[in-house]
Amino acid sequence: MTALLAAESITAGYGDSRAVSEVSLAVERGEVLALVGANGAGKSTLLRVLAGAHRPTAGRVHLRGEDVTDVRDFERSRRGVCLVPEGRRLFASLTVRENLEVGAGSRRAGRWSVDTVVEALPILGPLLDRNASQLSGGQQQAVAIGRGLMTNPDVLLLDEVSLGLAPIVIDELYASLAGVWGGGLGIVLVEQDLERTLAVADRIVCMLEGHAVLEGTPTSLTREQITDAYFGHEVASW
Ligand code: ATP
Repeated sequence: MTALLAAESITAGYGDSRAVSEVSLAVERGEVLALVGANGAGKSTLLRVLAGAHRPTAGRVHLRGEDVTDVRDFERSRRGVCLVPEGRRLFASLTVRENLEVGAGSRRAGRWSVDTVVEALPILGPLLDRNASQLSGGQQQAVAIGRGLMTNPDVLLLDEVSLGLAPIVIDELYASLAGVWGGGLGIVLVEQDLERTLAVADRIVCMLEGHAVLEGTPTSLTREQITDAYFGHEVASW
């Protein structure tokens, strides 16, 4: 079966330094694939390669079987791959509704509109007319994800969803995200919080120093295997 989005032996870096080494992974429609690993493991770089925002030095990216390695981020977004980057990056002077509508700019056909985004992320409902600068971090993150959904993606790449948020806010955000997980998208999630990752992911890929060192489902992997891969006590075999 052709994967929705597949990375094949991706190597990428910055100048002479390698951030990602020969990583292969695939995400299917309706699947949440989580990338876990310590700071600097290469997760954000890999997401940016998947989104077309960073050019790999080797390897290929396929979208629905088509080679999109040389397709840039704006065009890849039109073809259904959306990156929600770390740090949220909203337009502070615009309202929540206006920020969501920015995401509709490329207008792929699909089910997402301001109304369906609010259905999926109910915490946005009462905030639509509020200025983005007045929102809490968790609310801003929900808007950033909603803006991504407005592009009608097939694949959503979520970087550091809970970065800098208080635990109670993360709980609220994840409760709200339940309406997104079930929506038939392929999702690649980078999340520091391992417990939360295990709760929502269908499959996990652990990265260590640029390499994918362990892959499996939350039920097939032991906590010990994951923490070993995470901290590099030993490199687990596939
Ligand atoms: P974090 O959780 O800290 O974001 P990560 O797993 O997402 O970590 P990356 O951000 O992909 O990892 O970083 C991988 C490596 O690439 C690190 O050594 C990092 O210092 C380096 N790196 C990341 N961005 C740049 C950049 N713009 N220029 C140079 N080196 C970079």
